[in-house]
Amino acid sequence: MSLDGVKAAYELLKNSGDVSGAVKKAINTVEDNPEFSSVGYGGLPNREGDVELDAAYMDGSTGYYGGILGAKGIANPIDAAIELSKRHMNCLLSGTGAEHFARLQGFRFQNMLTRESKKRWEEELAKEREQLPGAYRGHDTVCVIAAREKHIAAGVSTSGLFMKDPGRIGDSPIVGAGLYADSAVGAASATGVGEDIIRGCLSYEVVRLMEQGRPAQEACKEALAAYLARMSRKGFTPKDVSLIALGADGSFGGATNLKDGDFTFVYADETHPAAVWTIAGGVQKLQGPA
Ligand code: ASP
Repeated sequence: MSLDGVKAAYELLKNSGDVSGAVKKAINTVEDNPEFSSVGYGGLPNREGDVELDAAYMDGSTGYYGGILGAKGIANPIDAAIELSKRHMNCLLSGTGAEHFARLQGFRFQNMLTRESKKRWEEELAKEREQLPGAYRGHDTVCVIAAREKHIAAGVSTSGLFMKDPGRIGDSPIVGAGLYADSAVGAASATGVGEDIIRGCLSYEVVRLMEQGRPAQEACKEALAAYLARMSRKGFTPKDVSLIALGADGSFGGATNLKDGDFTFVYADETHPAAVWTIAGGVQKLQGPA
């Protein structure tokens, strides 16, 4: 989903050094593409047929963070989140407050429901009437981490879970859960079932482990394993949880509880052209592009 966006963002980062511009570029590319049905335009509708958007951005150098929760019609939710991350107070806005802010900033609005996403919603409603619920499937988040010299930032954008209750908020715009960035240490971001990611404060946990000296891949693996073990002791099995991280030391990696090959991400640096990497779930092994 993010391959084209990361390619464009990497060029921008190389030429301008603009970290927030790179996060914005990568995410906007996904938000604007209706083929990606879990983010931005053409995103997954809630139970009422409305596309409610969550997005956030954290600057690892200032420690500032901004997010929008459950907002409708903002064409590029990440732009509003980046703008909010420049503020100390009132940096996390929900629903009509977030929409009001975006209007004042002059951000573009549009009907985020495409013919395809409406059709999908109608089909799901019909199925549910026949007792075949397929809701909560097909969700995804675009999670982007960009770093240049000593500056690291992370951003996320999603329409959340398909057929969610109106007003439901996932992990994505919650700092420490959906994303966390500290330029001195690194950044991490999460995708999967938000309710389960929030419970583990997983992005913060990955960054905390990197601060203790773990490279990114180890930190993701350890944070996820410890969380799954903790939940298992409580008799609870979390649904889909996947993590990515980038260390200030240049290390990168991810971890997932999905089955082998089901979790992929895009990585690019001076020696690695933008390409899709995979996490082999069972062994949590990072696999380079085929
Ligand atoms: N984490 C998102 C949410 O729960 C969905 C996803 O990343 O798949 O809203």
